Amino acid sequence: MPHEPRMLIDGQLVAGNKEFEVLNPATEEVVATSADATATDMERAVAAARHAQDNTDWATNAELRKRCLIQLQQALEAEQEELRVELIAEVGCPILVTYGPQLDTPMREALTWPTEMIDQFSWSRQLPDSDAFGLGFQTHREVWKEPIGVVGVIMPWNFPFEVILNKLGPILAMGNSCVIKPAPDTPLNANRVGRLIAEHTDIPAGVVNIVASSDHLVGEVLSTSPLVDMVAFTGSTTTGRRIMEAASATLKPVFLELGGKSVNLILDDADFPTTLPGAASVCMHAGQGCAMTTRLLVPFSRYDEAVELVKLGFEGVSYGDPTNPANLQGPLISARQRDRVMGYIEKGVAEGARLVTGGGIPSDMDKGFFVEPTLFADVDNSMTIAQEEIFGPVLAIIGYEDDDHAVAIANDSEYGLSGSITSGDLDRAKGVAKRIRTGTLGINGGAWYGPDAPFGGYKSSGIGRQCGIEGLEIFTETKTVGWPAR
Ligand code: NAD
Repeated sequence: MPHEPRMLIDGQLVAGNKEFEVLNPATEEVVATSADATATDMERAVAAARHAQDNTDWATNAELRKRCLIQLQQALEAEQEELRVELIAEVGCPILVTYGPQLDTPMREALTWPTEMIDQFSWSRQLPDSDAFGLGFQTHREVWKEPIGVVGVIMPWNFPFEVILNKLGPILAMGNSCVIKPAPDTPLNANRVGRLIAEHTDIPAGVVNIVASSDHLVGEVLSTSPLVDMVAFTGSTTTGRRIMEAASATLKPVFLELGGKSVNLILDDADFPTTLPGAASVCMHAGQGCAMTTRLLVPFSRYDEAVELVKLGFEGVSYGDPTNPANLQGPLISARQRDRVMGYIEKGVAEGARLVTGGGIPSDMDKGFFVEPTLFADVDNSMTIAQEEIFGPVLAIIGYEDDDHAVAIANDSEYGLSGSITSGDLDRAKGVAKRIRTGTLGINGGAWYGPDAPFGGYKSSGIGRQCGIEGLEIFTETKTVGWPAR
């Protein structure tokens, strides 16, 4: 299957002066190479985006934007199966997960909803006439929403296609241009999107630029350039802080989707046998999801029963070859990431948590960056494995005394991205949900996700919301105007 190595800069697919290799994390074989941008390439892309934003009718021509987004949607759908194979190869994501959030879900709705919203969005609103300064005449006043301008997009590797579409859709629908920097581990799907834009859409040259690089710091051009109006980042909290710092010199707004350490809170009236084995779903895609519920809170009054049921769930997790549809869990993205996860597991043991199952590198897999589904019990919320984001197939079970104690543990975290609550009593669960400081919450198995559903975090989990009306507004500026009322 052909992969696209070229970048998209100013409407042209360009090879660049060097290339870097993309590894399949399940086999450790080279999948393909990608153009390896330098800071100069990035600056060229930024200039192209600025020029397109300021000199084309992209920002004001809603019909053009709708047509282009529909063209892009059709072009993506035509290569959906190639994308599936590519995502499995470069991300190491199980094929099962591509039927959901890794591919099919964003393919279905991430561009279509913002496209529909181009007509429905509140582009302006009227304020009551006013004689604010007592000058003896009334002023008619309106608030206009306008594109924010050039958006620098910095991408993660764990759900790259989901993130690229959920950024591109709102950015383009709201009339902005952008420069997208994929994560170095997973540039191929982004390069493909670039080719489809160049070959199958009328998107004006420079409105979308896609610039992959093996050098993280090439992304820093987006944070520092005075030609970029905003940075939209998905990735780790550490990098998010650095981006915010770098962006402060030009006072650009930053939109940050960062890490999480979310709770799966089981109240004492929940149906344990039907609920608890499902806690093993943190192993999906080897735990490489920011919204995973990696702290399981269970009442001390039913603690042993809970641990046994979760253990059953963990022992049922099938993992290995991501092309096998039976597997829920594939490899970690890289050797570095696997070593990082193993370091956390060792720390969990050293700090006194009880390893219930897993904890090692599978002995029967000599290739690929795999880690066994790993369950810890007797975890105290102050331990490293309860406080830091592991980004691996690791769950920590923490006991609590009563609902107040559970809420206190849930909120005793640097993060506040997601979570879930299960109870036999929906009103009780909703009451507890109101007390947890987090951006999204599933109650009794409900799924909050969707292109119309704002997603993002409290505290160190981020700033701003992706998707929903909030996720459109974030890519706009606000202009208030007034003229004498007749
Ligand atoms: P990362 O922060 O290491 O890298 C993310 C991106 O930032 C990459 O493209 C990288 O090249 C780039 N980058 C690194 N340093 C940079 C700098 N100084 N300036 C500009 N760009 C820079 O994160 P990762 O390892 O790719 O992803 C894993 C993390 O992402 C996890 O912590 C996870 O929770 C988080 N994540 C969050 C969300 C969310 O929506 N909240 C989604 C996915 C992943």
